[in-house]
Amino acid sequence: MPICSTSTLGGRGEGGIDGVKTRIQGCSVSHPDRARIRNQCRLITRYSIPNESSLTGVLFLMPMRFRDLTKLDLELVEKAKDLIGKRKSKRSSVAAVLRTKNNRMFSGVNIEIECSAPCSICAEYAAVGTMVSEGEEEIETIVAFAYKNGGRVLPPCGKCRQFISEFGDPHVIVQVDRKLKKVRLSELYPLPVVSE
Ligand SMILES: [Zn+2]
Repeated sequence: MPICSTSTLGGRGEGGIDGVKTRIQGCSVSHPDRARIRNQCRLITRYSIPNESSLTGVLFLMPMRFRDLTKLDLELVEKAKDLIGKRKSKRSSVAAVLRTKNNRMFSGVNIEIECSAPCSICAEYAAVGTMVSEGEEEIETIVAFAYKNGGRVLPPCGKCRQFISEFGDPHVIVQVDRKLKKVRLSELYPLPVVSE
């Protein structure tokens, strides 16, 4: 079934995905199911399509590709581990550290509000907030490290995946079979909600 990706419709990520891209000509301007596909695209991406003739119905497959960590990536993991080691408390058990495209590092810890869970924030929010406060806007790599259960790297929750997608298509460090790897955010979260 043809599905329009955000790339097809001019969203972020065009040409920016390292993974294998498979282009399938699912439909064309004259496709008989154009209206159905257009609605499907709207449902998935919340994009409006200004000009129907631009609808191509191209499907981008973005398989998750795990990449090895560099020395700089390992440094982020160590910083996150150190930070939560220092700041662990009743309120905080996770630290996030990120590196920007300009090679600056920012960090933060989660804040759990026991009496009102929705008021809690993830460590990624704190790290990104500091980054934005310092005038940076694009994340190169990000990692979150949890202190509990002996310590481990955590993948970002769904809310954070959407949040982080506002600041580029960074590498996200994850733990797979006890090994640390990194993947592109667009592979973890291929269809972020975007503004119309
Ligand atoms: Zn989160």
